[in-house]
Amino acid sequence: MSTQTFEFQAETRQLMDLMIHSIYSNKEIFLRELISNASDAIDKRKFLGLTDKSITQEENNFIRIEIDKTARRLTLIDTGIGMSRDEVVANIGTIAKSGTKEILEQMKASGPSTSSGAAPADLIGQFGVGFYSAFMVADKITMLTRRANETKGTRWVSTGAGTYTVDDADVAQAGTTITLDLKPADAENGLPDFTDEFVVESTVKKYSDFIAYPILMKKEVYETIPQKEGESGEPKTEKVVKEVTLNSMKPIWTRSKNDVKDEEYNEFYKHLSHDWENPLKVINYRAEGRIEYQALLYLPNRAPFDLYYTSFKGGLQLYVKKVLILERAEELLPRYLRFVRGVIESADLPLNISREILQQDRHINAIKKGLTTKIIGELTTLLEKERDKYADFYKEFGPAIKEGASTDFENKEKLSALLLFASSNDKEKQTTLKEYVSRMKSEQKEIYYIAGESRSTLENSPHTEALRAKGYEILYLVDAYDEIVLQNIGSFEEKKFKSAAKGDLDIADEKQKEKDAEKIKEADKKMGPLLGAIKEQLKDIVKDVKFSSALVSAPSRLVGEEFDVSPYLAKILSRNGENVPPMKKTLELNPEHEVVKKLFVLYDKNPTSEKLQDYAQILYGHAVIADGGEIADVAMFNKAVLHLASAALS
Ligand code: ADP
Repeated sequence: MSTQTFEFQAETRQLMDLMIHSIYSNKEIFLRELISNASDAIDKRKFLGLTDKSITQEENNFIRIEIDKTARRLTLIDTGIGMSRDEVVANIGTIAKSGTKEILEQMKASGPSTSSGAAPADLIGQFGVGFYSAFMVADKITMLTRRANETKGTRWVSTGAGTYTVDDADVAQAGTTITLDLKPADAENGLPDFTDEFVVESTVKKYSDFIAYPILMKKEVYETIPQKEGESGEPKTEKVVKEVTLNSMKPIWTRSKNDVKDEEYNEFYKHLSHDWENPLKVINYRAEGRIEYQALLYLPNRAPFDLYYTSFKGGLQLYVKKVLILERAEELLPRYLRFVRGVIESADLPLNISREILQQDRHINAIKKGLTTKIIGELTTLLEKERDKYADFYKEFGPAIKEGASTDFENKEKLSALLLFASSNDKEKQTTLKEYVSRMKSEQKEIYYIAGESRSTLENSPHTEALRAKGYEILYLVDAYDEIVLQNIGSFEEKKFKSAAKGDLDIADEKQKEKDAEKIKEADKKMGPLLGAIKEQLKDIVKDVKFSSALVSAPSRLVGEEFDVSPYLAKILSRNGENVPPMKKTLELNPEHEVVKKLFVLYDKNPTSEKLQDYAQILYGHAVIADGGEIADVAMFNKAVLHLASAALS
């Protein structure tokens, strides 16, 4: 096929513009990105070869760096899987990741080129645009590549100015060669000279020391000249050019914890996850006993934008006897822990383990159980020892923990203890269920909650008046799914969860109950017919109308049954296109409220007054709005408000 010229996809072009014009001070990281891609490509060639014999294998894999000082060129050669022509176009011309648009918007919002580089850098990495970072240091990039099961190669060339060309090329060996025509060095402005061996070597050591394949480079070294027979004195040295390995190549997870610096753990994480930010926590341990394995796990700082999409792929790298067997073994962790990144190495698994048998394998299940316990344990420690850090973690990964508390029956109690809620106890600080229980009043039997859109609506909700009067703490569930989570969990430390908006709260003591019953009896006797009249007005939308002693300052509230969906959740569900059948609730009235008392006077004088209809609408609407629900017949409600307003003014 002849040479083809392609335009970069619009998003890619925007990204490259950002790269080229970026004044991001850490330009050296381009080398880490290219080496990381090369290492991934070698891994891929090896593990695809396990099942596909057409993929040829290289006995001695390497990543070679060549420097041409005169032409100011830096070349990276790898023995990886390589790419077919189609793959080059698909992988290098476009950004496949669906989040590109989002990242660009975020980048624009935070400004493309801050001097610290922090904002764009944080974002760039999340979406894996590693290759394009080479445009920070190069005016032109040439890529020669050949896939390990093909004979034809491909050349890709771009100056980053909107287009790139692709044509066929003879490529002697499978793998990829990337040549960068470097921009002039400008060390003062953060662009060191990458034709300087020392610069390249220290950059490799800094970011890529753990890479499992030798990173080779020719450089000048001093060698001792062997002494001739009879020669004495100090041995002489001479300067020679020799190819050396720049990295130590030791898999980081096999090294003793004390020998690994934090930065090394962090760099390995970035290589593994394509995240540019450091991880929140590193968990490194060796399990011994019935099944032995080494685990290096990372909790990220930030949730990937697609973590909560069903298409999200999690999983850990699985090594058996130093061979990478699976790139993303999702079976090693329960689905809700899919945000955890890392590596597992075990000698107890067969080398030819396939995805099909992974799920049933008892070793894998034992590892999964061990990892889950360990991660939950670490999170518990984080919560207990570093509350602020945990709160930040929860902001990002709370939904995953909730998913776990609702689905992992075995660890339900421990995961429930990791949940955080807004509560009436503190305006700012969220509470754990443990803390709630520790503050419960001696006679209090249940954990009370109320669900709604915002803390401020809930704080003033008529449903919580009686609880507040008793000094009972109330959890404010402002995340719509919290209510489902609590319904799934059912209880915590044997205390049941109870919605303040559903059914009878049963919190009064015997004496109070008697007094309340008396009050209601009297109200029924005196104003009973009013209830019937209001019910007649609202008969299509409420189940019943009753007097209640649960209300203190509010005139009315709507009470549902124990397992009803709250109005707020119903609103969210129906917005998401789910069919929520309308539920009729009971309208409770406060017999001691001015509006109710005066309404009775009005009714008593004229049982057929037209105002009755307006007041029924208002009492009902008040209760719906206080719950964060939506009034079914807004026109009717508005009419009632205007009628009463104009009557009051006249
Ligand atoms: P990422 O590495 O995050 O996927 P990049 O833009 O760095 O993003 O690379 C895009 C894709 O191009 C890679 O996913 C890989 O499929 C392919 N690729 C990049 N470099 C190489 C290489 N050296 N060998 C083979 N494929 C590569």
